[in-house]
Amino acid sequence: MSEVTSVASIFGEDVFSDKVMQERLPKKVYKELKKTMTEGKELDPVIADVVAEAMKSWAVEKGATHYTHIFQPLTGMTAEKHDSFITAPKEDGSVLMEFSGKELIKGEPDASSFPSGGLRATFEARGYTAWDCTSPAYVRKDAAGAILCIPTAFCSYTGEALDKKTPLLRSMQAINEQALRLLRLFGNTTSRKVTPSVGPEQEYFLVDKQKYLKRKDLIFTGRTLFGAMPPKGQELDDHYFGIIRQRIASYMKDVNEELWKLGVTAKTQHNEVAPAQHELAPIYAEANVAVDHNQIVMKTLKKVACQHGLHCLLHEKPFAGVNGSGKHNNWSITTDDGINLLDPGKTPHENIQFLLVLTCILKAVDEHADLLRESAADVGNDHRLGANEAPPAIISIFLGEQLQDVIEQLVNTGSATHSKAGDVLNTGVKTLPVFSKDATDRNRTSPFAFTGNKFEFRMVGSKDSIASPNIVLNTIVAEAFSDACDALEAAEDFDTCVHDLIKKYATEHQRIIFNGNGYSEEWVEEAERRGLPNLKSMVDAIPALVTDKAVEMFGKFGVYSKAELEARAEIQYEAYAKAINIEAKTMIDIASKQIIPAVISYTKSLADTINAVTAAGAKAAVQVGLLNECSDLLEEAKAALVKLTEADDAAAEIGEVEAQARYFHDTVVPAMAALRAPVDKLEMLVDKEVWPMPSYGDLLFEV
Ligand code: ADP
Ligand code: MG
Repeated sequence: MSEVTSVASIFGEDVFSDKVMQERLPKKVYKELKKTMTEGKELDPVIADVVAEAMKSWAVEKGATHYTHIFQPLTGMTAEKHDSFITAPKEDGSVLMEFSGKELIKGEPDASSFPSGGLRATFEARGYTAWDCTSPAYVRKDAAGAILCIPTAFCSYTGEALDKKTPLLRSMQAINEQALRLLRLFGNTTSRKVTPSVGPEQEYFLVDKQKYLKRKDLIFTGRTLFGAMPPKGQELDDHYFGIIRQRIASYMKDVNEELWKLGVTAKTQHNEVAPAQHELAPIYAEANVAVDHNQIVMKTLKKVACQHGLHCLLHEKPFAGVNGSGKHNNWSITTDDGINLLDPGKTPHENIQFLLVLTCILKAVDEHADLLRESAADVGNDHRLGANEAPPAIISIFLGEQLQDVIEQLVNTGSATHSKAGDVLNTGVKTLPVFSKDATDRNRTSPFAFTGNKFEFRMVGSKDSIASPNIVLNTIVAEAFSDACDALEAAEDFDTCVHDLIKKYATEHQRIIFNGNGYSEEWVEEAERRGLPNLKSMVDAIPALVTDKAVEMFGKFGVYSKAELEARAEIQYEAYAKAINIEAKTMIDIASKQIIPAVISYTKSLADTINAVTAAGAKAAVQVGLLNECSDLLEEAKAALVKLTEADDAAAEIGEVEAQARYFHDTVVPAMAALRAPVDKLEMLVDKEVWPMPSYGDLLFEV
């Protein structure tokens, strides 16, 4: 692609888009399919056959040989199995390319090896994938050739959700129903559908592939388990928004082109805070499409990196000592006729519907802060949340000056009479344009910040699917809307009731609002005084999934059954234990086979030098000092290695998943830190020539 103008021509070229459907489907079929997509009407099998045929011939023209049902099991990633379009050979030995409606709408992967948290025993291995027609199919081209990818939901034989897509779609239904109910009460008769819109900003690191291959920790765990800080980190703030280096720029160009072809609206790219860290953000889309597209983004970042001799690290904390990576989940609620329920307008104090929506969200987030925190829980994210860089592990809401003031008026006087307006930006330079500022400044430390016409949930980890946070957001807000509608529908006087509700919610839930510095120690203490939960680790957060209030709410809106929640909790504990176990084993492996031998050979060469220097009649005090220092640290490292090995072995003996996860957190993780400390000190002493792997400096600054 040479011309900028050709972006428009390649955009969506590999997507079975609305335009393609209009061109290729008979009018009647197109209309029926649209009805299913927009109104959730059941799909007629005859229609499915016609759609499948059109989809297949379109895909085959693009070179596709196979199709696959892409689904999102509870691993947080996507899964797929490829089937070619060929039929059994005819008598003359020739084959046809076929694809039926049945194959389009239903798949049956023998999927007993996916985590099911006990929802499905291995002897009952049936699982079904079902076409999610609201997220477009596309043709993906890679080393396997061209493959028609069909986004699907994945359920067990008995209909339990074994994936992240099904509950997401259920939660979208819930918020649609409750938001429509609320809109009708405010006299809206025209909107027919309300959808959560999501724009995820994706952070990632890029390292040189050859150096990556020399680090077993990166290969096995996605993060460095050892590594001394280089002389320079991120303290100069010279990487954030800095000039993008040519090698990276050419990578980003290819990523964008691939994404555009797949209909992903890659929009913003820049260098992030840490060296070698970058960000990509698309234009927001309907929640399920955004979730699917984010998976495509993550895959594309990885794939294109390979083609450029790079490796893309999506882990939340690939390097200690510099910022980790997250995924800001921007979320709003929009009607099919273009109304954003989170748009305050110029004078929010007069916008009663907005104030009710806003205070419902305060209530939802306050009542279910634990669930929202849990939705961002991920092993890697434990290194960020509460560790002075990403948002703290405590959920709070930033509203900004204007809305904060409106809420204060409501709480103090019962009604709001004015809204602070945005000023004009005055730079003192006559040649610069004068424009009006937003009414609200930004706050970078809040986990849940109002940013103009959307909320930005900043806790999500970079590697994780954004499905879980959006399932939680959609459902907790649906519940708050439902409670408000119950009250309003029963009220004799709507105006008084709505006024009272807004005041009540604002007053009862103002403790969740915090506009200060979320990274400070004072906030941790203040939050405790306010009674806000501070769930410091993933293991602490998981129980939120199965509290009575969570089970009741998810059950009420048909998003998760109790069994589905229990299964998820179990899978989370297992995921935690497995990940830490792999990290511990990798540390043991690297320390035993690479680091200790390297230090031993270095101390040997020091000893030889000392002997030679002393024999020559000179002083070898420096060498002796260094040798002693190295030997002491070597001893400390060896002792820590023994302890870590014992701790990890003991973990394997614990049968119950929760207890095992907790043991890994409380005992194995500190044992890993105890091994890392002397090793990182040794790295600063030992000759770089003999150190067995590339350093932080090599990885972060020589990309
Ligand atoms: P920031 O300045 O916070 O880094 P951007 O302005 O680039 O971020 O926007 C972040 C993301 O928010 C983008 O993906 C954008 O499409 C998305 N976004 C913008 N408006 C909305 C909205 N109303 N609802 C959901 N997402 C939105
Ligand atoms: Mg942002």
